[in-house]
Amino acid sequence: CGIVGYIGEEDVKEILLKGLEKLEYRGYDSAGISVRNDEELKIFKEAGRIKDLRDTVAPGFDATSGIGHTRWATHGAPSVTNAHPHQSADGRFTIVHNGVIENYEQIKEEYLPNMDFVSSTDTEIIVELISHFSNESEDTAEAFKKVLGVLHGSYALGLMDNEDKDVIYVAKNKSPLLLGKGEGFNVITSDAMAMLHKTNEFVELMDGEVVTLKKDEIVIQDKSGNTVERDSYIAEIDE
Ligand code: GLU
Repeated sequence: CGIVGYIGEEDVKEILLKGLEKLEYRGYDSAGISVRNDEELKIFKEAGRIKDLRDTVAPGFDATSGIGHTRWATHGAPSVTNAHPHQSADGRFTIVHNGVIENYEQIKEEYLPNMDFVSSTDTEIIVELISHFSNESEDTAEAFKKVLGVLHGSYALGLMDNEDKDVIYVAKNKSPLLLGKGEGFNVITSDAMAMLHKTNEFVELMDGEVVTLKKDEIVIQDKSGNTVERDSYIAEIDE
């Protein structure tokens, strides 16, 4: 299981699919990508291998940002419905998650008692809670931070907001996740190896930090909201 993401100017589908194929060694039972261009966002999911997902991805749809996931089910059977990305019922937010949310039942009861969930995953509550908090506070970054304060467990997260196509929000806790830098694009990946076809320049991310990833900018904030400056490094691995 693992996640990848890309925001830039090239067609994102193949970039994500290639990355996911390289992550298959981490385990997989299903996979999916959420990709967007200026007009719309599309989600493609498939049970089985990445090559099966590749067959379901619409070749004609060009998109320049996206997130992808290869799943190893912990909550809910392996199925297309339970595959990530998960989308909030209002259609606004899309998320990929690697890890386990331990208190998802409590979160449901406390914040989302009347919500009808589509999947049986622990992940879907994250995206619904972001939608719930963003309706209260209006600001996605704030809503995202608020959700992270509520979650117990392990996660690497990539979040897209349909109302702001220029950003992917990123955070981690106890699951691996790296930021990758390029000319005119940036990426996220569970393992440097899975994005070497795009870049070998990476920036570490620490538990509890929150990232706004844009095509020409990466802003990392610590828990108190202070901007973190961190040097990148070159990964010396053969593709
Ligand atoms: N707990 C999540 C699920 O079961 C994510 C599993 C994973 O890391 O692949 O859907």
